[in-house]
Amino acid sequence: MNKIKVLAEEVANRIAAGEVIERPASVVKELVENSIDAGADSISITVENGGKDLIQVIDNGSGMSPDDALTAFERHGTSKIRTVDDIIAISTLGFRGEALPSIASVSKLTLITREADSELASQVDFWDGQLNNVSKTAANVGTTIQVRKIFSQVPARRKFLKTDQVELKHIMNYLHYQAILFPNIAFRFVVDGKERLHYPQTDSRDARMQAVFGTPFLDADWIRINHQQSAIQMEGYIGGLEEEKSSYADYRYLFINGRYITDKIVQHSIRSAYEPFLKKNRSYNQGNLPPYILFLNINPELIDINVHPAKSEVRFRDTQLVFGFVTNTITNALLDYEEKRFNRSASGEEKNSENVINNIPLRSENDSDVRTSNFGLRNSNGNSEPRFTSYRKPFGELYQQPDLFTQRPVLKGGEEAHKVVPDQQDISFFLPSEEDLVNPWQLHQSYIFIQVEDGLMIIDQHAAHERIIYEKIIHRLHGLAAETQKLLFPIVVDIPPYISSLVMEQIEQNLEAFYKVGFSIKSFSGNSVVIEEIPIEIEDWEGGELFIEILKQFESEYETTEDFRDSISKSVACKAAIKAGKKLSRKEMLVLINDLFACQVPYFCPHGRPLMIRMSLNELEKRFKRLI
Ligand code: ADP
Ligand code: MG
Repeated sequence: MNKIKVLAEEVANRIAAGEVIERPASVVKELVENSIDAGADSISITVENGGKDLIQVIDNGSGMSPDDALTAFERHGTSKIRTVDDIIAISTLGFRGEALPSIASVSKLTLITREADSELASQVDFWDGQLNNVSKTAANVGTTIQVRKIFSQVPARRKFLKTDQVELKHIMNYLHYQAILFPNIAFRFVVDGKERLHYPQTDSRDARMQAVFGTPFLDADWIRINHQQSAIQMEGYIGGLEEEKSSYADYRYLFINGRYITDKIVQHSIRSAYEPFLKKNRSYNQGNLPPYILFLNINPELIDINVHPAKSEVRFRDTQLVFGFVTNTITNALLDYEEKRFNRSASGEEKNSENVINNIPLRSENDSDVRTSNFGLRNSNGNSEPRFTSYRKPFGELYQQPDLFTQRPVLKGGEEAHKVVPDQQDISFFLPSEEDLVNPWQLHQSYIFIQVEDGLMIIDQHAAHERIIYEKIIHRLHGLAAETQKLLFPIVVDIPPYISSLVMEQIEQNLEAFYKVGFSIKSFSGNSVVIEEIPIEIEDWEGGELFIEILKQFESEYETTEDFRDSISKSVACKAAIKAGKKLSRKEMLVLINDLFACQVPYFCPHGRPLMIRMSLNELEKRFKRLI
């Protein structure tokens, strides 16, 4: 008996939707890419409830003829390729002809579109895959697509959608990439009735970068790249070689032929170009790449983008060619940069002093106190020589102990942090005595070695300081008084739009909590806030840049925990804590150790990683084979 039947188009579309349309952000992506392919230079995106209830994209592109407005919804209906050969040299973002029928099969979709030479626009409505209406209407030239109630008829998929905030984040990420890629297109993004982003159309890539990343972007230590060699062209920005920490350190963007792409070969080329220049830089040795925002354009014939349904990966036809080109281009740029830097210092020219202007000095209630103690590693009783407290402060007596402290930290993968230290009640057993602490020793300006009663203890200085600050802030959020330092002048922090669009609401709703953390935030206008006071722990405020860093971190912490207090405490702790690689004086080490042992959970950083390792004499003796 014959059993095989060809699936009805409706079923096939649903199946395709499973691949192409994973979440609201996929709909935004497909619609916006269609608008770009249609030559639009103004695209407006509106969403409601994380896109679950409404996604609307309006463009001023070419529009469609009345017939095309229907053919567009046929499976594989596309104006972008005709023959198999065309797939080899695709210059548009779309080509599979699957997006519109897929979206229409899982939502209530309305298309209104008008070409320049038509007087009226065509309107087409689909309800969960069924054509519901075809009519004429008045509209501007271009296309409007409205997608309502995505997955309402596919409960299995709807169930897998995350919170509105998370879905919004995915949409924002995508729009963020498009904004960087296409300065010549104006983007407007409206979320639940509020305009969140507005990037005006511009001819200048620099201007768009400033619009997206904030005005100080161009002042950072960037090296410009612009190089072409026959079939490949690359432009953009790569991080310079200044040692100081750049607030753009984690900016890594690669765009190939107009798409955001994750590609190992290009990453590898960047790394190998930087390697000879950065031997001594710790961060790169740890495996981090320098920052880069690169736009690579390759003759479409040399690249296969049809590897991944969402087109987020590519395959190069000639890997060596790409590797060589990227490595050489970056190497030459770095050589050139080094040479200029060398000539500059040889001619006695000082590095620009802009950064100095940004560093507005801090004033505190007790100025000398903050100044003499580095990074807020302050001895609570104010003695110049810190004294070791051999017991933990009874926080529990001050107020109800927050749950956070009673829980055993959990490592990322959900696995319980393995025991590196004895149970908490055993702490007195290996607390260093004052005598032991006479000579703490710092290894590679990152780890502190101290002698304890029965052996050796190694402390990760950054993680330890993070823990200390984290607990202090959690305590403040649970009722202890805020400890702030007043800025000499209130400072206006311009939050880059792509961050503010995600966190501004949180700031507005949690002003009081921000104050308890230590930030007194006074007024708002657009993406700017005025800050008058900052937490006492912050040593280097970087002219306000640090606040942006904290918000960035907060945003990603919040995405995983959805716990405001925990996320903000972790973010401030992480950004205000002393870094690995920072030389500490003996006194600073002692204060750090002292404060650490006053913590409720002195063993783990706020993310649950161990922050100290203990090695007993016994263990040493075993390793030296004195003991068997
Ligand atoms: P693809 O983009 O892969 O061709 P889609 O299903 O996304 O497939 O779109 C089908 C066709 O509909 C496109 O090829 C294009 O001709 C037309 N189209 C879709 N969106 C627009 C738009 N915003 N403006 C003009 N034409 C559009
Ligand atoms: Mg498309």
